[in-house]
Amino acid sequence: MGIFSEMAVTDHEQLVYCYDPVSGLKAIIAIHDTTLGPALGGTRMWSYAREEDAVTDALRLSRGMTYKAAITGLNLGGGKAVIIGDARTDKSEALFRAYGRYVDSLNGRYITAEDVGTTVADMEHVRMETDHVTGISVALGGSGDPSPVTAMGTYEGMKAGAKRLWGTESLNGRHVAVQGVGHVGYYLVQHLAQEGAKITVCDIDAEKIARVVNEFGVAVCNLDEIYDIQSDIYAPCALGGTINDDTIERLKCKLIAGSANNVLKDEEKHGRQLRRLGILYCPDYVINAGGLINVANELEGYNQQRALRQAAQIHDAIDRIFAYADENDVPTFLAANELAERRIRRLGKVKGTFLGERNRKYRGIC
Ligand code: NAD
Repeated sequence: MGIFSEMAVTDHEQLVYCYDPVSGLKAIIAIHDTTLGPALGGTRMWSYAREEDAVTDALRLSRGMTYKAAITGLNLGGGKAVIIGDARTDKSEALFRAYGRYVDSLNGRYITAEDVGTTVADMEHVRMETDHVTGISVALGGSGDPSPVTAMGTYEGMKAGAKRLWGTESLNGRHVAVQGVGHVGYYLVQHLAQEGAKITVCDIDAEKIARVVNEFGVAVCNLDEIYDIQSDIYAPCALGGTINDDTIERLKCKLIAGSANNVLKDEEKHGRQLRRLGILYCPDYVINAGGLINVANELEGYNQQRALRQAAQIHDAIDRIFAYADENDVPTFLAANELAERRIRRLGKVKGTFLGERNRKYRGIC
């Protein structure tokens, strides 16, 4: 499929190719939709086997950002960039500054942040060339580690799920199986422990396990056992694609609520299957939107308390998704997508109102 055809299918506004032979920069910035505001999304650095794969990834990820911002009530559009290269060997100050200049050339239509393969230090190089960057260090007025805010959103989303299923949002005594106790998983376990949940965790990293066992006295299971244990809630906080043909029938839980991206291996197939199995799914990009909320806060001058309060509102977003799913008899992943599209459509109409000469000269008749 040609690039314009791909853009047409996915409803993209703009695709920007950035090349700098001196630093070796090859980057693609994808702006999906700016109806609600500037397109915000991270910059991924990855050794793509083919340039087409980089384009496809940029298009896919930027579209996801539009939906995430829309459903969370942020006035942001969706964008994402990819830098083609090996994050271990191909980084340099010049490369990120060259990239920063391209970001700057978009005049704020696209705001970047860190993502897989890029770090706060890389964003600080980007910041030397543009103001349109978030996710910089606390020392430079940035937001630093987003994980506490992401964990807050995940926790509140989980409580919304509990309320829907069991009539109370209290997680006291509920058995939660947490897969991955890294940055987000650790803070999530902290919230759950404070509330008196029964917690079982797994992780490939023995040190991460030891930390939560020592601090919160959680139980531990083997990596693969996490799908089989008799829990109330499964919280995927490690990697994507964990709900798949091999795992879905093994789940004993009633609720899925975790921070991982792309939890459903096949959104359409597994999202519908979960519904048939009577397992309530909190859509991943909604429940983990605390990370986006955190960086979006930098745009107004970062304040972690405000970011945490905003992330707690993910509870309401999840409530709305459940209500819409019930009313329209659709799975929750579809309800989230439709609600996001509805907000964009409605506000697009509102923002289309002509505001008079102050803002725009009428040049309609040639
Ligand atoms: P992290 O790398 O700090 O933690 C992931 C943890 O999962 C690590 O401790 C790792 O050892 C463990 N792990 C890896 N493979 C595993 C496996 N097979 N089984 C069990 N554990 C395994 O990452 P993070 O920042 O905590 O993010 C967790 C997930 O949430 C990721 O999918 C990430 O994309 C998503 N997410 C994170 C944020 C954020 O603010 N950090 C925001 C949105 C989404």
